[in-house]
Amino acid sequence: MTLSPLDPAALARSVRAGERRALARAITLIESTRPDHRASAEALLHELLPFTGGAVRIGITGVPGAGKSTFIESFGLHVLAQGGRPAVLAVDPSSPRTGGSILGDKTRMEDLSRDPRAFIRPSPSGCTLGGVARRTREAMLVCEAAGFDVIVVETVGVGQSETAVADMVDMFLLLLVPGGGDELQGIKKGIVELADAIIVNKADGDLAIAAARAARDYGNALHLLAPAATGWRVPVLTCSALTRTGIDSVWKTVCEHRDALGANGALAARRAEQARAWMWNEVSETLLQSLREDSRVAALLPEMEQSVASGRVPPGAAARRLVALFKGE
Ligand code: GDP
Repeated sequence: MTLSPLDPAALARSVRAGERRALARAITLIESTRPDHRASAEALLHELLPFTGGAVRIGITGVPGAGKSTFIESFGLHVLAQGGRPAVLAVDPSSPRTGGSILGDKTRMEDLSRDPRAFIRPSPSGCTLGGVARRTREAMLVCEAAGFDVIVVETVGVGQSETAVADMVDMFLLLLVPGGGDELQGIKKGIVELADAIIVNKADGDLAIAAARAARDYGNALHLLAPAATGWRVPVLTCSALTRTGIDSVWKTVCEHRDALGANGALAARRAEQARAWMWNEVSETLLQSLREDSRVAALLPEMEQSVASGRVPPGAAARRLVALFKGE
């Protein structure tokens, strides 16, 4: 069977048949910025779309060193033991693909990456968060069509990437460590508000007592915040990703969240809203790219930027002039 990237229908069939090489190739196609590849990627997604949506989509964030990759490995192995099929994707706009990637590094999840029923994909390279987030969303759909039923999207707790990930998942987990200070100190409040569950990791050995105390403090602090989703009270759990204790409770919480939001319609509403927002993101990204590629705009751009930078032209007026030029007015 040919797996030419330019034959989206054949590639889609191979993805659905569970062929690993086809899955990797499909995601590579999606990540490509070549215009002809983009057209094939869209055709591929069109073929696969009817077979998507069946997975539990989980996002996870935490500061570097919180234990995200250790946790995802333990969690992924637990999912496998339950008969599930986990796929791990990453959103890490700051990291180049080669060398020094903070996230999605395969060697960090050795046991999980060795299991043929699991799939781990590092973050696509890309300079804009919008670009990386789009490709991760699409990779998620491909994984669902390939039969993965638990998708974990990992991101490091910097910048806007948490919001981008929260906007593509059903449930967003915040991984914390004990001894981080009082209550929710040091954690950006915005991130806490996105969380559907808070997990205090490293609840083992000398840190076990501190972890329990931290969980209690976080729980008290959370009473002051509105829950991220309707019909759901944000729980605070403890676990040890290293000794793999408490991971079953996290999985149980994920299932409870899915049941609760599935029953009251909040999950369907969340996904519908995410799809709408995604469409508008695509509109913005596509328009912006077309505008930048327009030769008339490109010719005027350096002069406009210079004029705006030096204060000779108001930015709003410059923007309208560029858009008018693009529209051929
Ligand atoms: P990440 O940067 O958030 O992906 O964190 P890592 O998974 O790479 O873990 C950072 C460090 O914390 C490593 O040295 C891990 O071995 C350690 N670590 C992760 N989870 C636990 C845990 O549950 N208990 C303890 N004691 N150490 C852990």
